[in-house]
Amino acid sequence: MPETDCIFCKIIAGELPAHKLYEDERTFAFLDVNPGSRGHLLVVPKTHAADILTVEPADLAAVATTAQAMAKHVKARLGADGVNIINSCGAAAWQTVFHLHFHVIPRYPDDGLVLPWKPAPADQGDLAKLADELR
Ligand code: AMP
Ligand code: ZN
Repeated sequence: MPETDCIFCKIIAGELPAHKLYEDERTFAFLDVNPGSRGHLLVVPKTHAADILTVEPADLAAVATTAQAMAKHVKARLGADGVNIINSCGAAAWQTVFHLHFHVIPRYPDDGLVLPWKPAPADQGDLAKLADELR
């Protein structure tokens, strides 16, 4: 069911313009209008789901499969050296459009994109406690 006021549902229904790249029974892929790199695209399920926590597993599997295919495609067609596949779940995690999407972001040498965190070694005791909490 399309969700009223969901821009990605409107794109899928053809009610809003988009540069569609691919579609199949369950998924739809189109260019991101604010690209982080050349070829940055989004893969979404056709059935509305707000995020990765609530999407039907079969739709999630289909989105992952399409994201893999699109990652191969942009590598081959655009000569990308790598690809980031990114999902944001929840406003605290930078999600701004609440229809599940995987970003497929082709990567090029010196494209200027940077990791959003500074990797630094954690305390091993803290990691052990955390692992206990999560098991
Ligand atoms: P996120 O911030 O992870 O929720 O990603 C939402 C993405 O949707 C952003 O990268 C936006 O640039 C992109 N976006 C928003 N509106 C449109 C649109 N009408 N067509 C294509 N991409 C869009
Ligand atoms: Zn939607």
